[in-house]
Amino acid sequence: MHSVINEGLRPITSILWSTDLDGTELEELREVVASLRRHLQIRQRAGIKSLPRAEPRAKESREASRESLFGGMEGELFSDYTAAYQAKSLEELGAAIGDCRRCKLWPFRTHLVFGVGNPRARLMFVGEAPGRDEDLQGEPFVGRAGQLLTDIITKGMGLKREDVYIANVIKCRPPDNRDPEPDEVGSCEPFLRKQIELIRPKVVVALGKFAVQALLKSKVPIMRVRGVWHDYYGIKLMPTLHPAYLLRNPGDKRLVWEDVKKVLKELND
Ligand code: URA
Repeated sequence: MHSVINEGLRPITSILWSTDLDGTELEELREVVASLRRHLQIRQRAGIKSLPRAEPRAKESREASRESLFGGMEGELFSDYTAAYQAKSLEELGAAIGDCRRCKLWPFRTHLVFGVGNPRARLMFVGEAPGRDEDLQGEPFVGRAGQLLTDIITKGMGLKREDVYIANVIKCRPPDNRDPEPDEVGSCEPFLRKQIELIRPKVVVALGKFAVQALLKSKVPIMRVRGVWHDYYGIKLMPTLHPAYLLRNPGDKRLVWEDVKKVLKELND
């Protein structure tokens, strides 16, 4: 076992040997050790060599964490998310997500679809979840709806796909492309939040009802909010219609064009 794991477990394992705990207490302590071991393994896989600090936070770091999208959660010791919260780059975040089994979607996936594009993008698009093509290729928005999104980016906005960042709320394809369920959103959405925190784009475009509702944490109808600027932890968020919806309702492309023009203006200001 790696020394960081040994070092992290030492304070607890020493209690196991040195006290006369009853059976239940011993069992609880064993569960704590197992949980801590899992947590340290996730950190290790993410390439984090140091141990989490347990001492009270200094004033400056409290202030820094208030600015963070995760304010205050980074210090949790026994969470499957700690390495993700503490990631300093998209690579570290990807490693912390690892071979994710945090929700019930993992057995259905071919690839976990993390996201693609410029890690310093000024513009980020957020969709719902990978479909069949995305699951097979491991990249978001590469099927028919993806082609339309690429056209919006390249032909409509005059940008390259590599200039922007593209991700989904859910990283694994739901079976038969069903809607993601609330527990799946709950498991996966922290990763999207961290992606946005690391990229810090000037504008996030939320594509379709599902992404809009997940990001704004509101059941508000998409037609009521599209085209209107929203605030997402200090980042400008523009809700618009999903490219898959536009494939079924091409007459509404003009609405997306109106929204895209607002985004372009904001990026160029
Ligand atoms: N639809 C989405 O919301 N995301 C994808 O990656 C593909 C289709």
